Amino acid sequence: MSARLLEGGPVAARIKQSVVDKLMGIPLGRRPKLTAVLVGDDPGAKFYARSQAKGCEEVSLRYELVELPADISEGDLVLKLRELNNDDDVTGIILMMPVPEHIDGRAMQGLIDPLKDVDGVHPVNLGHVVQGKMDLAPCTAQAIIELLDEAEVDYYGAEVVIVGHSEIVGKPTALLLLDRFATTTVCHIGTSDKGMLAHHTREADILIVAVGVAGLITKEHIKPGAIVIDVGTNRQKDPETGKTRIVGDVVAADAMEVAGMVTPVPGGVGVVTSAILLRNLVTCAELQGKV
Ligand code: NAD
Repeated sequence: MSARLLEGGPVAARIKQSVVDKLMGIPLGRRPKLTAVLVGDDPGAKFYARSQAKGCEEVSLRYELVELPADISEGDLVLKLRELNNDDDVTGIILMMPVPEHIDGRAMQGLIDPLKDVDGVHPVNLGHVVQGKMDLAPCTAQAIIELLDEAEVDYYGAEVVIVGHSEIVGKPTALLLLDRFATTTVCHIGTSDKGMLAHHTREADILIVAVGVAGLITKEHIKPGAIVIDVGTNRQKDPETGKTRIVGDVVAADAMEVAGMVTPVPGGVGVVTSAILLRNLVTCAELQGKV
């Protein structure tokens, strides 16, 4: 058996087109603006900031990067976030993670105006997810649902297993799937430590993995014919070329052999997540009555 690839590209293109369509006729100067706040110079955060800027440019959304020194005090960062909250020209705010250790990133995200919370990480927006509203749900959770919709899955009563219980992926995805009447199990490090991971994952019609451990999921973990959504993004040195490459949490060759459908890494969840950020920015503008 050879699985079908569930590519993110076409889904991302459809989402970006919906953004373009919604903003048709609005001059560039009046279009929604994403303001990214980068504290320090973490290379991962800088990489994502660059790719966000590119994404905005592609669909003619405005983008601004606010770069702050790594030793900024929490108090000064609070003032900056308040200033952006009050700036009518700023539609969406994203605090690039990770932030330096002396800053409580989650607390800072909680200070962003929920209507400008383009990342969907404010407790108010996470609370909306509990109530079944997807408007400003975390981008990756929305991306997973978009990919599953694309695969035309029948959620009703489907056995879904999510590995990873983070606030931005595992938990909100579980809630969105419960809302679609999937039977949803969430596994995490405790499940693995008790030696129960494969026991659960092997039952999954839909297996979603968001852990950050390359090669965690092998063929023993996958039910034949299952849909596998690999969220993991791990940097790895290719032993042959010595070059750094991105791999998922699932051994791709194993998934291709056993599963029915698999998202590639890269080119799966990540590209859809980037497109959702753009859609969320438009949603912020709508919620603020700006478009
Ligand atoms: P996290 O790093 O906050 O938490 C990791 C989760 O994995 C926890 O629930 C932990 O208990 C669990 N875990 C750790 N080791 C485990 C093991 N051996 N067995 C089972 N569970 C284990 O999670 P996150 O922020 O959701 O990130 C997870 C991965 O997803 C990372 O690789 C991250 O880079 C990637 N990610 C990708 C996107 C995307 O758009 N593609 C978006 C967000 C995160």
